Amino acid sequence: MEIFFERFESIFVSCLLIASMLIYGSLWYILVGITIYLFVNLHLKTSISQEVLQRRSSTFVVIIGAGFSGICAAIKLKKENIKFIIFEAAPDLGGTWLHNVYPGCACDIEAHLYCFSFYPNPSWKTPYASQSEILQYLKNVCNFYDIRQHMRFNTAVQKCYFDSKTQQWKVTTSGNEEFLCNFVISGAGVLHMPKIPVLKDCVFFKGESFHSAKWNKECNLEGKLVAVIGTGASAVQIVPSIADRVKNLYVFQRTPTWSSFNQTPFYPRGTQTVFKMFPTILKLFRWLTFVKLEISFYVIFRSKSYLAKLIQQVMSKAIQDQLQNESLKKKMVPSYDIGCKRITPSNNFLQTFNKKNVHLVTEPIISLTEDGIKTDENEYKIDILIYATGFDVVASIKSLNIIGPDGVTLNERWGNKPNAYLGIMCPGFPNLFYLLGPNTVLGHSSVVWMIECQMNFVLDAILKCTDNGLKSLEVLSKVNDEFQCYVTSESKKRPFSSSCGSWYLNKDGENFTLWPSHLLNYWWRTLSVDLKEFKVQ
Ligand SMILES: Cc1cc2nc3c(=O)[nH]c(=O)nc-3n(C[C@H](O)[C@H](O)[C@H](O)COP(=O)(O)OP(=O)(O)OC[C@H]3O[C@@H](n4cnc5c(N)ncnc54)[C@H](O)[C@@H]3O)c2cc1C
Repeated sequence: MEIFFERFESIFVSCLLIASMLIYGSLWYILVGITIYLFVNLHLKTSISQEVLQRRSSTFVVIIGAGFSGICAAIKLKKENIKFIIFEAAPDLGGTWLHNVYPGCACDIEAHLYCFSFYPNPSWKTPYASQSEILQYLKNVCNFYDIRQHMRFNTAVQKCYFDSKTQQWKVTTSGNEEFLCNFVISGAGVLHMPKIPVLKDCVFFKGESFHSAKWNKECNLEGKLVAVIGTGASAVQIVPSIADRVKNLYVFQRTPTWSSFNQTPFYPRGTQTVFKMFPTILKLFRWLTFVKLEISFYVIFRSKSYLAKLIQQVMSKAIQDQLQNESLKKKMVPSYDIGCKRITPSNNFLQTFNKKNVHLVTEPIISLTEDGIKTDENEYKIDILIYATGFDVVASIKSLNIIGPDGVTLNERWGNKPNAYLGIMCPGFPNLFYLLGPNTVLGHSSVVWMIECQMNFVLDAILKCTDNGLKSLEVLSKVNDEFQCYVTSESKKRPFSSSCGSWYLNKDGENFTLWPSHLLNYWWRTLSVDLKEFKVQ
């Protein structure tokens, strides 16, 4: 009840207003509603005592990573006057958008949703903003909230150890410095460790080779023989961007991708001006985008639904229509359900294969040679090899060395299937929060929404802890177990649980990455922290 009152005063007052309008239609009742609303708000704000404020300002938080997650955490903590430091292994901020600089790199969720709700950007040039635009956006956000001064670059967190005596985390960095803090927030990301297949005889290959996330800007592709291994999200952006520069391009496909959306490449003229002049229209546009993607979840992510099958048929036809060659039409229509792997919208990926110098190779790779790739049917001479083979998600999630109060590491606890309550907190590891932790990545919408929901929850937890004079907060095993049961049962209803071999699943075919439900469900679950679900000290 107490939580209800704390968090839902706005809903309460809105209901009061609507009720009074409906019943009496009288202005007086609306005024009474507004007065109550202001009173409750004012009361809540002024009821924070000096002592509580002091406790908040003596709380110290370590944030790991300066991507969307770390930046969001920093902004929310700063607003509450809580001290923090951000450690970032890279030389600058931006995370994903600093590391991935391959040609054509862009978001594949509309940028107006793929940005913070509290810092909208009316100036996105295209619906799917480019890497440089997103990186600049993140830099602008940090300048606006004056966050950069709290960042320590080229500093990786190497170990976090929870001392049960002091109820504090001891964080060791790559510079061998030690920091004591009350809370640790990990924004270390899930897609930052490249996955490179070990190909037979790869050591003999004398040409250039690199992963899409480690793009070699010095490497000149002009007039070269180039191979791209993979046809996932990165390949879909790289292939059309480099096709005209290279002499011949060989694209090695293991499984085709659902990539036939025909998106508007640019906004109509004047859109940015309208968004700048009328922020409410921009907000509305964001919400419409959100709703559109939520509907897509209901349509696409319900295994065996009639509508999903219908969309699949329409998309198969659209894929075939974009290809000129009959053999390509057969090879490029996926046989697995839409939504099983990440959907990869592109205007020009498929059409690129109609070019004379672009070749789709579907035979399995046997080995590399000094100057090429050998399959069981052919040998392809190449100068440059690009791995668009995605990321090792298990290794990325498990990249931190976190040691709990009983000396057990989080990775030992997790084993093959990382899991956390709401993807945020793990039993046995007090005062540790994950942003974009297990089961909170999305296949249909913007993860920035998830990060904001998670940070609201984390902030509520930190404030409840400090304001009530508590030292630590640890989610109960029972609560996490119930949550995991829910995630498992929901996941089974979704196409990504079928065996198309996506990065969403672990070795045992269990979904440990994606949130398996709609986003309002997640928002509701992360609205506030119920202390009854935690062991507090
Ligand atoms: C090419 C690409 C396109 C994408 N497009 C979309 C999209 O359109 N929509 C969408 O929703 N999602 C997309 N994603 C997912 C994307 O990763 C997230 O949207 C988002 O950027 C994640 O932000 P983050 O801050 O959680 O992690 P990251 O951006 O990965 O940042 C984590 C940071 O933590 C740092 N770090 C890691 N370990 C340590 C350590 N031990 N010590 C210090 N620092 C550390 C890393 O260097 C990194 O800078 C895309 C991902 C990629 C790779």
